[in-house]
Amino acid sequence: MASDNFDKPTVVISACLNGFFNRYNGGTVSDENVNELKSRFELINVCPEVEIGLGIPRKTLSLFRLGEKVEVRQRETGLNVTQKLISYSEAKIKSLPEVDGFLLKAKSPSCGVKSAKVFGNLEATNILGKDDGIFARTVRELLPHLPLIDEGRLNNRELRWEFLVRVQLHFLFRKSTKDINSLLDFHSRAKYLFMSISQKDLKILGQILARHQKGDFNRTLTDYRQIFYQILTKPIRKSNLINAINHMFGYVSQSLNPAERNHFLRLLDNYRQGKTDFVTLIEILRGYGYRFDLSYLLNQYLLTLG
Ligand code: SF4
Repeated sequence: MASDNFDKPTVVISACLNGFFNRYNGGTVSDENVNELKSRFELINVCPEVEIGLGIPRKTLSLFRLGEKVEVRQRETGLNVTQKLISYSEAKIKSLPEVDGFLLKAKSPSCGVKSAKVFGNLEATNILGKDDGIFARTVRELLPHLPLIDEGRLNNRELRWEFLVRVQLHFLFRKSTKDINSLLDFHSRAKYLFMSISQKDLKILGQILARHQKGDFNRTLTDYRQIFYQILTKPIRKSNLINAINHMFGYVSQSLNPAERNHFLRLLDNYRQGKTDFVTLIEILRGYGYRFDLSYLLNQYLLTLG
């Protein structure tokens, strides 16, 4: 089902990050990084623990690895809410309108994204490791192509950038499915972003579009969507990103003076060696796009999203 609002991406958010006083202790969470992003999205609030009927305030839940299974229980009472949370999560996710990503609360046994502590038994205080909360895990299982992050990771510039880019990319794809021309335009703008994830998939998408036959747009769209969703499950690869950045730098390098050129190449080398992140490189390239009025570069999602 398509979302009614097509002005902004739609993101599902843990309600406690969005001003609701629904935490176990009756509190809420005000996170600067989340607050900065909220106005960029249409938000859908979820609170798995309240929605399965636990009250506010309530005794805390934790994840426990008991044998092969991970369970969610109240340590104090032993109450096991695992199945309730799984059933709720599956039903909730299936009932959502089309959404573009999930921004959830870190460390929660329901919402945390690889950040919820896992204990060995109800008495243990030392942790076995960290894992997804039940709702986050169900998102990963049912909608593996959608970006999923918790607020704890928004502090990392690259992870924040990647989350935003993937949310917007999914949203822009949804807006580009009405006819072949919209899809071709989307593909051309996403070229360097796709290149930075998988050159092989970029090539396959190009072949799908080249095979397009008049009057058979649905077939083309189905094939395209399948590969596009695969791309969304893959990480950006450093070597691919450097390749894409080098291609884009080729559009401006001859217009730069030697000092500017060397400066950029030194930063690129720093990124290669892990001494800096890639967001700075993208911002500099975008600046060159404005300076030399290069609409082709400025249309590239790799430079403009995020
Ligand atoms: S972390 Fe998730 S389950 Fe806990 S209060 Fe926030 S929204 Fe509800």
